[in-house]
Amino acid sequence: MPLDPQPEAEVAHRNMAFVLRLAFLTATISGKVYSDLSFVGNVSAAPAISACRNPLKVASIYAATRTYCKPQDFDASVQYYAGKCAGFGGVTMIPESEVADNLTAAALQSMRVVSKGEVPSYSKLSAPVLVSRSWFDVAFKTIDAFQFEKRIRPIYGWPKVSIQLWRYIADRMATMCLSNLPILWLFSGRNNIFIWATGWHFSTFNLFHRHIARVSMLQAAIHGISNTVFIFKTGTKLFYKLRWKELWFRYGVVAVVALGLMMLFSNHWFRHRFYDSFLLIHISLAIVAIVGIFYHTSIYMGRFDPYLWPIVALWSFERGVRLVRIVYCNLHVRFGKGGSLQRTRATVAYNEEADIISVKVLPATTLIKPAPGQHYFLYQPFRLKGWESHPFTLAYWEKSSASVHDDISLCFWIRPRDGWTRSLKKRCLRSGEPSISTTILLEGPYGKQEPLWVYDEVLLIAGGSGISAIVSYLLDHARRATAMTEDAGGRAQERLRTRRITLVWANRSANYMQQVAANELTEVLAREDVNVQFHYTTVSDSGSDSPIGCDNPPKATDETEKEDDPRERKGLEGDTEKQTVPNNQHINDPEITMKPGRPDLHFIMNQAAARAHDGGIRLAIMACGPAKMVDETREISYRCMREHGGAVQYFEEAFGW
Ligand SMILES: Cc1cc2nc3c(=O)[nH]c(=O)nc-3n(C[C@H](O)[C@H](O)[C@H](O)COP(=O)(O)OP(=O)(O)OC[C@H]3O[C@@H](n4cnc5c(N)ncnc54)[C@H](O)[C@@H]3O)c2cc1C
Repeated sequence: MPLDPQPEAEVAHRNMAFVLRLAFLTATISGKVYSDLSFVGNVSAAPAISACRNPLKVASIYAATRTYCKPQDFDASVQYYAGKCAGFGGVTMIPESEVADNLTAAALQSMRVVSKGEVPSYSKLSAPVLVSRSWFDVAFKTIDAFQFEKRIRPIYGWPKVSIQLWRYIADRMATMCLSNLPILWLFSGRNNIFIWATGWHFSTFNLFHRHIARVSMLQAAIHGISNTVFIFKTGTKLFYKLRWKELWFRYGVVAVVALGLMMLFSNHWFRHRFYDSFLLIHISLAIVAIVGIFYHTSIYMGRFDPYLWPIVALWSFERGVRLVRIVYCNLHVRFGKGGSLQRTRATVAYNEEADIISVKVLPATTLIKPAPGQHYFLYQPFRLKGWESHPFTLAYWEKSSASVHDDISLCFWIRPRDGWTRSLKKRCLRSGEPSISTTILLEGPYGKQEPLWVYDEVLLIAGGSGISAIVSYLLDHARRATAMTEDAGGRAQERLRTRRITLVWANRSANYMQQVAANELTEVLAREDVNVQFHYTTVSDSGSDSPIGCDNPPKATDETEKEDDPRERKGLEGDTEKQTVPNNQHINDPEITMKPGRPDLHFIMNQAAARAHDGGIRLAIMACGPAKMVDETREISYRCMREHGGAVQYFEEAFGW
């Protein structure tokens, strides 16, 4: 922070380390201010003698020192002033005891207060007076600034260009760092007005957040280092030690260290391995950093508060909105006959074979409007770590069988990992029941629906549990198509342009894919405009269970159509080798082709893009799945876009940030 005169003086007020300097200032000020005033009974024409021997003037100086000085600074001030009397006037200063009658609390209370210019110089005062606070302050700041500049610029200029540079760099880095903080905090929250304004994903803002954090950290570090070098170059080691005794200085160091630790604990490995510990540490250190910065800048009399209070406001707003969303989703008062306080209920089931937990949540409120692309944060409040919340994409929704009203259940598919999801899985396994009821709170909805319905052709690519984000789009397509048929020629026409949807899903378990196809996707898979390609990647999983959708008319999928395509065979076989899935495990289902190994995304996407380009239609590609797969689809899409121009648009639902 810039070491301005004014805060320097304030620090001096508060710190005994500067008591001598303060004493000098106070005494000088008292002397300087009172030298403008004349009192009756002058003992000498020499001002230095008069200032030390005129009882009225000396009483006035004592009064000002008592009033405007901290008690602990009083003795040092008087001592310093007495030294000046001896040095300049060759006299002793009248001791305080001799004018004590004028310095009682009552006397000080009733003493006349004079402002600058109020008493003409020819006028002689007949009683001690107290200079006004504003007059004292003007003198104090002037002398303090003068002393500071004298110390820092011995020749009224920077002693060396290098010193000047250190100082300028330190100051500018601090200001730039502070100005970054509000957006750094803003972009860290899931309730961020920029998300609402732009429609961009939270993950995009999270990326900005991380980059801004890196830059801010660098600026804070440079500020600290430059200032340290500057202090050593202009002051002494002792001066640096004195600085350490000052709270504002120490808090600056605390803030920089906290920011540094935040960076350290935000590294990719730690964040992904111990997400909840990362979050706890991150938030705690953020609080330490912001408190530290508040203290560090407190000496500037609020000059930097416009950067800091917005952070508090944004943070409170973000947390407040979360709370509102939680209450909104999970508590609902039903009035009228049989009215009651509704709360959210949830049933959880674990499918061991598929290694998927399905959570069905019946929200307390009926006001939630589910839509594809939404995700919700789930809390399990009655746990030791009940504050944890985890985001999950809405897979589908349905009318609840558990409710007499037309309530909607929200359904999530969760792949168990190592934290909360694992404990949920264990609870299901321990219960021995097909499903358990537990208290789960919802916070949401977040995310937004991508307008896939405006594209002529849609290619959906899902990896593993990424299918949960895709299913809702498939169901939405079916809903829109049905609405369009029922309302032929009406407004619904405008809402669905898509003539063909292809789903490519790669999953470890073929059985799980069959289950999903036979349940949630039955209606969708029966549609002529929906094609699917399922790929399983686990050798033990033959996927040879009973075929799905037997009653549905058989249809040719993209996969079967290009069965003989050498490029595709090569791709799949290559992967098959990697997965060690023998070729004879290829499932010959009448409607849905399931193949071992990973899909050749490159081929599938390029083919779809070329078809769109040649046919003069627009293609939307949406991917959701493991980071590696999504990275691959993004890269291929980019190439397709370059090759086929505006025909291709890419969308992504990421399961992480
Ligand atoms: C927008 C979004 C939607 C998602 N939808 C689904 C879904 O539909 N189905 C599904 O199975 N998974 C989904 N995920 C991933 C899911 O949130 C994590 O797998 C889950 O939080 C892991 O919890 P855990 O405590 O068991 O994780 P851990 O074993 O502690 O961590 C596993 C991984 O999950 C990440 N993670 C943990 N907690 C969080 C959190 N609170 N926020 C973000 N990431 C976290 C970690 O960084 C780590 O990479 C989604 C993630 C996001 C960001």
